[in-house]
Amino acid sequence: MELKDNNPFPIAEPYPYGNFFLSHLDSIINWSRANSLWPLVFGTSCCAIEMMSAASAKYDWSRFGFEVARATPRQADLIIIAGTITNRMAPVLKRLYDQMPEPKYVIAMGACSISGGPFYYNTYSVIKGADHIIPVDIYVAGCPPRPEALLDAMIQLQNKIKRTKNF
Ligand code: SF4
Repeated sequence: MELKDNNPFPIAEPYPYGNFFLSHLDSIINWSRANSLWPLVFGTSCCAIEMMSAASAKYDWSRFGFEVARATPRQADLIIIAGTITNRMAPVLKRLYDQMPEPKYVIAMGACSISGGPFYYNTYSVIKGADHIIPVDIYVAGCPPRPEALLDAMIQLQNKIKRTKNF
């Protein structure tokens, strides 16, 4: 195994006589979590098409460990908010988030989920940002963001998880 001096997430460290000493339990736990995120199937409007595209064969988010999209929050640990959140949808989003097991993560995808997007002004029915309802880990700008932007956000989320202190 080649170890680089600037590796911020060392899993194994050199030990005398050529062995490796596993000294960072945090790194192993975080590595496992970051590479096996299960997203909840959740999309409310047009951004959801781009999210589905990111999961499809051309972009294939499975390459990064986001393999198993789940239809129930009890089996998911990542929610990608893809689309407009209306006042009527907000309690549903909160309930889904509450039903997800810890640790759980949130990506806000697109202008609507970040700030209300094109509906920021002159509307009475749209929430002006998902973070008014649940905590958000990563924001993806765009209307809509391209699948590459979502993949980049997922990788950023993986990096964030790898920096988590568990103990
Ligand atoms: S950000 Fe744009 S593309 Fe995404 S849901 Fe809102 S209006 Fe649709």
